[in-house]
Amino acid sequence: MKTDIFSKCFEFYHQLETVKKTEKYFYFRTISSIQGPEVNINGRRFIMLGSNNYLGLTEDQRVKEAAIKAIKKYGTGCAGSRLLNGTIDLHEALEAQIAEFFGKEATVVFATGMQTNLGCIQALVTQDCVAILDKFDHASIIDGCRLASGCFKRYPHNDMQSLERLLQCEPEKPKLIIVDGVFSMEGDLTNLPAIVDLSRKYGARIMLDDAHGIGVMGKNGRGTAEHFGLEQETDIIMGTFSKSLATIGGFIAAQKEVIEYVKHVGRALLFSASLAPPLAAAASMAFKIIETEPERRKKLWDNTQFWLEGLKRLGFDTGYSTTPIVPVIIGDVDKTFEMCRYLEENGVFVSPVVPPAVPPGRALLRTSVMATHSQKQLEKALDAFNLAGRKAGII
Ligand code: PMP
Repeated sequence: MKTDIFSKCFEFYHQLETVKKTEKYFYFRTISSIQGPEVNINGRRFIMLGSNNYLGLTEDQRVKEAAIKAIKKYGTGCAGSRLLNGTIDLHEALEAQIAEFFGKEATVVFATGMQTNLGCIQALVTQDCVAILDKFDHASIIDGCRLASGCFKRYPHNDMQSLERLLQCEPEKPKLIIVDGVFSMEGDLTNLPAIVDLSRKYGARIMLDDAHGIGVMGKNGRGTAEHFGLEQETDIIMGTFSKSLATIGGFIAAQKEVIEYVKHVGRALLFSASLAPPLAAAASMAFKIIETEPERRKKLWDNTQFWLEGLKRLGFDTGYSTTPIVPVIIGDVDKTFEMCRYLEENGVFVSPVVPPAVPPGRALLRTSVMATHSQKQLEKALDAFNLAGRKAGII
């Protein structure tokens, strides 16, 4: 019998060492430059096609300066939770700005997107309540449900008939449908119009995790709900600052009673220190830029179209993506790593995604474009994909 709680770590370490010696390990790669359209790794330059920096704002001078200014005024941290000593005027101003941006009554910001889902779901899905999730929902939503005292059920990806069946079960129990707006691995959209119809028919509420939709989707960058013209019908809009908003942190926007409740009951907010001042300032500036510079979004969509069409023309399977997240579906795990290695050799950074992060047989390379990629960079990356795909026998 193994009596040492660390024994699994020793075993894992040994296995990891073996994997690292093969050419199938592409995780925790160390970047030594800004997260832009190109990055430095081990002294080499790579075209970055694995980033969530959709609008390229991590390099924006105004965003950087806002963060620096906030450090000068407020220091580097708030040294406490929002509830006690950690609320500063910057948080409240950011919350008011976000509420106005989404046309909601109120907002609360958390220190990360993950914590936002943990705190919000744990607070709302109490005993005798049911959370209903899409099978492709982000891990932080599932973990929020695990922390909650209510139960959760999942329907097959975007299968509205199965969602309806789940809504029909236990009609006496209050229900919250929680879905990603843009699915983070495959870049396809949730069927929000159908979800809104069903939520009304069965009296359920909707929480939309729009981590990958904000700044990207909708005429004004207000996300997937704006894209479908369903902002008011979407009860809770959740987002993170770690993608288009160029920093880290998260928020929910909803009616004031819901926000006050989550602020006082969400453990991930109550028992964790508040969003650091430079991050609040950076997010605020990024929101301003999203509002005032629609040309960035236009460039992002031009790049998306160029990239998606380029990959399709080469013969790759890009699934159902209609967004800047474009999966290259390979299926086989070993082939996926082989592709990744060839791409790395040719100076292209992509992320291999293998089960259990995707269903078995659906291993893929997650690629994503930014507004700041040049056409030349994307052309070069397409050449690398062409070469890699032929060498690996994918196309
Ligand atoms: N929701 C979704 C859909 C995400 O993709 C992510 C991050 N990958 C999160 C929530 C968590 O956000 P954060 O990284 O800001 O903690």
